[in-house]
Amino acid sequence: MNNKPPAGRDVTPPSAIDSPYDIETRAIHAGQEPDAETGALMTPIYANSTYEQDAPGDHRGYEYSRTGNPTRSDLEANLASLENGSHARCFSSGMGAINTVLNLLSAGDHVVAGDDVYGGTHRILTGTYEQYDVETTFVDTTDHDAVRESMREGTELVWVETPTNPLMRVNDIAALSEIADEYDALCAVDNTFATPYLQRPLEHGADIVCQSLTKYLGGHSDTVGGALIVDDAELDEEIGYYQNAVGATPGPFDDFLVLRGTKTLPVRMDRHCENARELAQWLDENEDVDHVYYPGLESHPQHELAAAQMDDFGGMLSFEFDGSLEEASTVVSETEVFTLAESLGGVESLIEQPAAMTHAAVPREERLAAGLTDGLIRVSVGIESIDDLKRDLESAFDAARTQR
Ligand SMILES: *Cc1c(COP(=O)(O)O)cnc(C)c1O
Repeated sequence: MNNKPPAGRDVTPPSAIDSPYDIETRAIHAGQEPDAETGALMTPIYANSTYEQDAPGDHRGYEYSRTGNPTRSDLEANLASLENGSHARCFSSGMGAINTVLNLLSAGDHVVAGDDVYGGTHRILTGTYEQYDVETTFVDTTDHDAVRESMREGTELVWVETPTNPLMRVNDIAALSEIADEYDALCAVDNTFATPYLQRPLEHGADIVCQSLTKYLGGHSDTVGGALIVDDAELDEEIGYYQNAVGATPGPFDDFLVLRGTKTLPVRMDRHCENARELAQWLDENEDVDHVYYPGLESHPQHELAAAQMDDFGGMLSFEFDGSLEEASTVVSETEVFTLAESLGGVESLIEQPAAMTHAAVPREERLAAGLTDGLIRVSVGIESIDDLKRDLESAFDAARTQR
């Protein structure tokens, strides 16, 4: 552990716990001070690989940009504050962040993860870490007895996502953190779908929060990034060691874009939630739709938990179009305001069909057993006019119906 976090530029993130300011204010100001020399308001893009030293080892906080970069430091301070943590570390992608959590494990360790985690998370656990003798048990994390039964000696990590993709299951962070604690395992929560504006896992006992900055925090579908946020200096130092040793660090321009994104996170999320709530209700009453998966609907099996754990229900939802795989493909192909694309969390609305896209590799029987029907459609509800979004879906439904 020879990686010291860079010192010299406001590198101790202002812990939100100590901050008198609300999250809307911290989103704009945390980690960002006008430049002392020029008064420039915005954090510059420090396009530097290296930094001058006055004598060997005598530097002003930065030596080399893989280890630390001032633009990245400001973003890390901002993210730590939003998640109510003490420290944050940024990575070149969400997967880079997830890999760094797994770097904390050793051969022979065991992981318990949700059976509906993000596909890339499933892939790295099975495809990469299995060969290093790290075994993962995938389990329905809404079933706490099943989670308990999966825990064993050597379980070092419980990996939780909430809400999950694409059925929007909601996991109880406090309960799962407690189970992890009983076994001295770390509990890591992928908070990408909810964002810190709606849910702060560290407040519920999680040890590590993971973010794909590519999604809501960047918010404009123009950059890829990841972050890990903790409330424990020792754990942060260990993560910092691997951040520097493995080197999946972001460039300063990407950090700048995410910093630009987090300023408007609260206003964007308010609108994402408002549009998603209205669209979910509209779909729920639509005769072409069999079922809507949205934690904000009272029919959602974990609606009460979501209401207690989250400040609002988010911008992601899925629904079952009453039709064949081909008809649902027509729906997602015919929309004009919704763009047919994977990913999520940008200001623009996206639509995708899990059975034909993100989950096409899963055998049909297995896919159906997991609730991923042929007609299932997932949308990332953007911040456009809600009336345009409804009209767009209605005309795509019409196009699919006339095919019959
Ligand atoms: C996109 C995503 C990731 C991976 O992030 P990248 O930035 O694409 O590497 C991880 N978890 C969730 C929930 C995601 O949506």
